[in-house]
Amino acid sequence: MPYHLPQDKPVSLRERLYLTEAIRGLRILTTHFVRNFFFSRETNPDILARSRKLSLNATLAYPEEKVPYPPGYRGLHRLVPREDGKPRCVACYMCATVCPAQCIYIEAGEVDGDPIEKYPTQFVIDELRCVVCGFCVEACPKDAIRMDTGEHAPPTYERSQQIWDLKRLLRGTPVSYQYDPWLRRGASAIPEEKLAEMRANARPFPSVATDEYAQTPGFSVRALAAEARARNEAKK
Ligand code: SF4
Ligand code: SF4
Repeated sequence: MPYHLPQDKPVSLRERLYLTEAIRGLRILTTHFVRNFFFSRETNPDILARSRKLSLNATLAYPEEKVPYPPGYRGLHRLVPREDGKPRCVACYMCATVCPAQCIYIEAGEVDGDPIEKYPTQFVIDELRCVVCGFCVEACPKDAIRMDTGEHAPPTYERSQQIWDLKRLLRGTPVSYQYDPWLRRGASAIPEEKLAEMRANARPFPSVATDEYAQTPGFSVRALAAEARARNEAKK
């Protein structure tokens, strides 16, 4: 079906005189001025419920006031900590493998005295390359990475400041599940009574890089991987 552009409406005689239109404009201007001058700004802390009746000044005092993001908003990543402050992440590389932007870099270390468990010695996300798809969160078998911070990437002067490492990523409230191995067998950093409390409160069980031409200077998954390989080879 052809698309028809609306034709320009013919200008009426009243509009052509301009006087009535000028008076109408002045009336709107005066109304806004009087309302904003004589009535205080709506201060309801629930900014979404603010009334526009008394004051037309409905702007927010950003950054003190921010419109909350909707519940499904995928914000900046965080690595979920355990109660002892260590990351829940077991360095399985699932998130880095599934990431379509190849912007996650992980190096795994072995837990002392444990033949199985691993932890990330390095966990880096380039937030500028991230396409905010949430695949990493979906892929994680340990609920160790989330995008529930409700924050977007803050503006920075340098691209390198958008590269988030383990120290910056590890934050937020800890989460425990009944199947967490460190929770079952105990962790040296957690006192026994705290461990018992955590066990009681733990949630039940719920249900390769193509980075040669990385856009962010100083960060390249391949470069980091090559460095790691070189370090390993030097150790041999
Ligand atoms: S949200 Fe998507 S693009 Fe961003 S790090 Fe996760 S998997 Fe990669
Ligand atoms: S998928 Fe989860 S546990 Fe595996 S490396 Fe990523 S954050 Fe860590």
